[in-house]
Amino acid sequence: MGKKVVIIGGVAGGASCAARLRRLDETAEIVMLERGEYVSYANCGLPYHVSDVISERDALLLQTPESLRERFNIDVRIMNEALSIDREKKAVEIKNHNTGEKYRESYDYLVIATGSSPLRPPIRGIDSPLIRTLWTVPDTDEIRRIVKSGIRTAAVIGGGFIGLEMAENLREAGLEVTLIEALEQVMAPLDFEMASILHENIRDNGVVLRLGDGVDSFTDEGDRVKINLKSGDGVTAELVILSIGVRPNSGLAKEAGLGINERGGIIVDDMMRTSDSAIYAVGDVIEVKDIVSGEPAMIPLAGPANKQGRIAADNIAGFEERYTGTQGSAVAKVFDLTAASTGQNEKTLKKRGLKKGTDYETVTISQNSHAGYYPGATPMMLKLIFTADGEKILGAQIVGTDGVDKRIDTIGVALRLGAGVKDLKNLELAYAPPYSSAKDPVNMAGFTAENVIKGLLKMAEWNEPETNREAIRIDVREEEEVAAYAIPGAKNIPLGSLRERVGELDKSGEYIIFCAIGVRAYNALRILRQNGIEKVKLFPGGARFYRSLHSERAEQEPLPELPISGYEAGGADKDSGGEKGSAAGAGGAEMKPQEREVRKICVNCSGLQCPGPIMEVFKNIKDMREGDILEVTSTDIGFAKDIVSWCRRTGNELVSNERRGSSFIACIRKGALPETEACPIEEAGSKNNGKTIIVFDGDMDKVLASFVIANGALAMGRPVTMFFTFWGLTALRKESKVPLKKNAVEKMFGAMLPRGSRKLKLSKMNMGGMGTMMMRKIMDDKNIDSLEDMMKNAMEAGVKIIACSMSMDVMGIRKEELIDGVEIGGVGTYLGDAEESNVNLFI
Ligand code: FAD
Repeated sequence: MGKKVVIIGGVAGGASCAARLRRLDETAEIVMLERGEYVSYANCGLPYHVSDVISERDALLLQTPESLRERFNIDVRIMNEALSIDREKKAVEIKNHNTGEKYRESYDYLVIATGSSPLRPPIRGIDSPLIRTLWTVPDTDEIRRIVKSGIRTAAVIGGGFIGLEMAENLREAGLEVTLIEALEQVMAPLDFEMASILHENIRDNGVVLRLGDGVDSFTDEGDRVKINLKSGDGVTAELVILSIGVRPNSGLAKEAGLGINERGGIIVDDMMRTSDSAIYAVGDVIEVKDIVSGEPAMIPLAGPANKQGRIAADNIAGFEERYTGTQGSAVAKVFDLTAASTGQNEKTLKKRGLKKGTDYETVTISQNSHAGYYPGATPMMLKLIFTADGEKILGAQIVGTDGVDKRIDTIGVALRLGAGVKDLKNLELAYAPPYSSAKDPVNMAGFTAENVIKGLLKMAEWNEPETNREAIRIDVREEEEVAAYAIPGAKNIPLGSLRERVGELDKSGEYIIFCAIGVRAYNALRILRQNGIEKVKLFPGGARFYRSLHSERAEQEPLPELPISGYEAGGADKDSGGEKGSAAGAGGAEMKPQEREVRKICVNCSGLQCPGPIMEVFKNIKDMREGDILEVTSTDIGFAKDIVSWCRRTGNELVSNERRGSSFIACIRKGALPETEACPIEEAGSKNNGKTIIVFDGDMDKVLASFVIANGALAMGRPVTMFFTFWGLTALRKESKVPLKKNAVEKMFGAMLPRGSRKLKLSKMNMGGMGTMMMRKIMDDKNIDSLEDMMKNAMEAGVKIIACSMSMDVMGIRKEELIDGVEIGGVGTYLGDAEESNVNLFI
């Protein structure tokens, strides 16, 4: 028999140590003690079992004592708790909770992998059985039982990743959830402004978020608990989840006289040895070296625990291995978003006394998860923190929907390998449109950081618009964008007219530039700088980020009551055209809304992507009467925001706008304005707010983009003219051949040009037709209207489609070959409408 190794703790660090040791040493005697009932289970998956997202309990149990015994010849003893360590005699005193018996087990090497436990501070009333922590499988069973007993309310105390995961899963289970956090933000590894994006989404998901308010005491009220907050407010819930942090389970080590830090972490060397060379310690219970600061830290995460277990096993088995430190890479799903971080955040750097500008710098950018023209691209905010000279990356944080994990890991690897911002810029990352952009967000962070270092760009602090009263806010977005969401107090100078209007700005003034996400603002900043305006900064993340930062303010505005008869809240099933009430049936004399029953129409747009839902709103409301209600259900996250500005712009009233589960439900009351003004398809030029689009290209993606814009503009009630010329004409051809007399050149054109929209190809990645097919399939899967549907909708809704007579002549295309509803016109027809429009696009 070889050496005898006793491991205390049988989950992440303990189990990985035991398995590795067996692979290295067949002769070792391995005893694994676990005080609970389960070994090697997926504690990170527990929150998802509460809501049945992981419905199979067994899926969480990765190994059983029997499987560890059979596969690894490990003597696994569950329900056996180590009570004390006798270092002199190299023995552990153990209690078997199955039999009540106490016994001793000797060791050559001991591994302490006792993990940590959730904090339960001595707050008055905390012993109520309705106040639970989630840490083990039995904890999960108990919480699930309570959730399934028919309760309706829950409160989560603590906005760390476990608290957030619990809030999400309790919501998923159908409960009303309040999340209470003593700090001003959730997710402490993020800086405040990055966490604000989460705040907005958490609220959007129907969770009541109480930030900056701690628990004073609890009052047991029988089948519920009242949480008395320090502010004096109270929150009552039938279940309370306490998730306010952890403490290391280091009592055994402390009593045995091993070196412990002031936070209770066992001090180990880089081979995972404690102050006693026969005793190793791994996982949540130890102090680690933070690789960014080089300082000791407590970072309880599963990845480091598993790696440390492996390293301890290597060293015990005689294969020298060293732990290089922890950087705290973490990722969490928070409702619709993913939040991730690596390295140190700015708060920590400030606490360490480092100064922005001299010691470190930051850049914050907004980038899409993949090429914007490929369906499904979603934005992410990325904050990069680096030394002021750019030589070292200190940390990064990303919040977004897709592709967050891959970017944080890329930056995490760069950080661990000691890279600087130049390295991020130079990284050659795999690219194809469904996955990334030719300049990946990580590259973009590198470019932007380099611009800051070279002095080409200055970024404003997230709160600078409020803290710097001298700075003038300039918004370089188009007028239409500003109408949907305006930056308070900003002067609007669209980027396209900035060069001409630069004279309006005082050269000695201070400016903060906004656009939608930060790209146009950078161009604007460069224009201003090169026109002698020096004190100019870019607002990172643009209007979208600004809106997230101020989401609380917007949400506090109460929604109006609904004082009308005939309206029933809820019931969002498809009921298109259904009517409630009867008084003014079709054909009846028009009555004022207060004199007749109000009709309600329910439209279910679930699964429709932008601009689908807003188009449906437009289509339906057009034929409704003043005061009638349209209830729209959508699963598109952007719809809840779009409908607010749409109603404001079109004179309709947004009566309610809420989220139920994964659906967004908006109730709109048809406005009092006359039909033509309330939701008008105005004649081009009636208010000079028409849109014209020249469709020159015959690529499928470009034609698609044209119709998306056209339909979107139409939904805003704007008149649209589309002028198809040269290759764009092919989209308007009929699919079948029309027998016509043509000359040789015309025949050649006719044969070679695609016949209709279905024959169009992607401008890039067509791959012999595969790419186009894939694009159509994905659009179909994602419930995005096909190009043909978009064309049909646009024409039905009144988009004016003009085929250029001159191009038709040149290419030998005849009127008979074009689909119905197309007008033939010359450039004059187009120019007439263009003059009366405020957006003219060439695609
Ligand atoms: P543990 O895995 O906790 O194992 C310690 C074991 O020791 C326990 O089973 C305990 O019963 C046993 N023990 C303690 N004292 C004794 C004793 N005296 N005698 C016998 N046995 C004893 N980390 C991530 O990186 N990502 C995540 O998404 C994530 N999600 C999480 C979700 C939840 C709900 C929880 C609870 C944790 C999560 N973590 C996550 C943290 C991660 O699980 C821990 O960092 C990791 O498990 C630590 O491993 P460990 O071996 O140190 O301790």
